[in-house]
Amino acid sequence: MIENTHSKSTLESSVWDVVVVGGGMVGATVALGLAKSGFEVLMLERQAPDLNWDENAPMQTRVSALTRASEHILKNLGAWTGIQNRRYHAFTDMHVWESISDAQVHFASKEINEPNLGYVVENQVIQAALWEEIISHENVHVAVGHALTGLVLSLDHASLELDASIEIKAKLVVGADGAFSKTRDMVGIAIEEHDYNQCAVVGCVKTELPNQDTCWQRYQPDGPFAYLAMQDSWSSIAWYLPTEKMQWALSLSDNAFAEAIAEASAYKLGNVIEVADRTAFPLVRRHAGHYVKPHFALVGDAAHTIHPQAGQGVNLGLLDAAALVETLSQARQESDKDWSRLSVLRRYERWRRGDNAIVQRSMEGFDWLFKQENTFKNEIRKRVLPLADQAVPIKNWLMGQALKGRGVLPELAQV
Ligand SMILES: Cc1cc2nc3c(=O)[nH]c(=O)nc-3n(C[C@H](O)[C@H](O)[C@H](O)COP(=O)(O)OP(=O)(O)OC[C@H]3O[C@@H](n4cnc5c(N)ncnc54)[C@H](O)[C@@H]3O)c2cc1C
Repeated sequence: MIENTHSKSTLESSVWDVVVVGGGMVGATVALGLAKSGFEVLMLERQAPDLNWDENAPMQTRVSALTRASEHILKNLGAWTGIQNRRYHAFTDMHVWESISDAQVHFASKEINEPNLGYVVENQVIQAALWEEIISHENVHVAVGHALTGLVLSLDHASLELDASIEIKAKLVVGADGAFSKTRDMVGIAIEEHDYNQCAVVGCVKTELPNQDTCWQRYQPDGPFAYLAMQDSWSSIAWYLPTEKMQWALSLSDNAFAEAIAEASAYKLGNVIEVADRTAFPLVRRHAGHYVKPHFALVGDAAHTIHPQAGQGVNLGLLDAAALVETLSQARQESDKDWSRLSVLRRYERWRRGDNAIVQRSMEGFDWLFKQENTFKNEIRKRVLPLADQAVPIKNWLMGQALKGRGVLPELAQV
């Protein structure tokens, strides 16, 4: 357990280089990356993760499929060992098919000479591995459990108020406080939202047949269903349903849930023989109008949320984190004092905002093509999926883009 050892006087004693609000996967990556680049960082988090690892602990409901770019970021920051010491699973193949025509596309890592197509890792494992590195780094201080009660940006710094009684000053505040970001609201950055009218039911299940280290995704008119390969015939599921079916799905008994999951997957891995905890989220695309203001920057879900069907959310967030670390470090090398000025922060925004928007929009394409049943779309799907499966160079290019990232990659995301 991480104890909160910072007194009011310690927190108020100096002007911090950077205060990161939110110590989730993305905030912790920013904090660690900046600390390793020599910045003095304070990370604020509502609730510390448990760093003790119990290998018999049940699988967590929230997992992420990490790309190669994310693997490199976590390796370059020294957090990958903490993941390896806990639990993770490499997947080598991805099988996508649709329920109406059974048309399919198969992606295999061996076709692009890669050992795998990524890793399925529990979110708490990723966060704990980052925190383990953070707490042993002298440049990061962690304060847990404070309420953020104020945030004001002025000409030469940002001021935060905690618990309506502690005043903190920073050259830069990074809002990494998730989709419902309070920092984003406090500095007056508007978001554009689109409700998918869909929810994702997530959890882990054990299946009769082994998952073959493969992620299986079946598109059906209600939304996709996915098995993400984990250890010992366990898979994480993402079952997308119209929002009005969310309570129904959560209220099913274990047996009825197991049967519904097996049916949604067309019994691809046989029956479901065990189910762990499950939860559900309504899905909303959000994009902040700006990522930066003077002495302020947004990263991760605080800046953007996307449909999780392609498993890109945290991968985009980790790229934001790596790009912000690189932009600030370069600016500090150019001019020691002015690294947090708006023109520098805009470089980060230009680097990441357009790229995130492209990925968000490409999810809309999938949504349009697969969501409803009508003759025209059925026909397109029936023709496009087999074509995509046979067009090997295009398929390999798509795999490379999804795995390694697109555009100019930050150094931390490279080997
Ligand atoms: C169903 C589903 C499946 C997904 N699957 C994938 C996947 O396979 N691959 C993928 O890349 N992404 C996936 N995602 C997206 C991914 O989960 C998110 O993009 C990721 O969790 C965002 O991380 P974050 O650190 O930006 O935000 P969060 O994880 O929301 O972390 C924010 C942190 O800030 C803290 N916080 C909030 N407010 C305050 C405050 N006032 N003071 C202090 N701390 C605060 C919170 O406690 C939290 O720890 C999925 C999402 C969903 C909904």
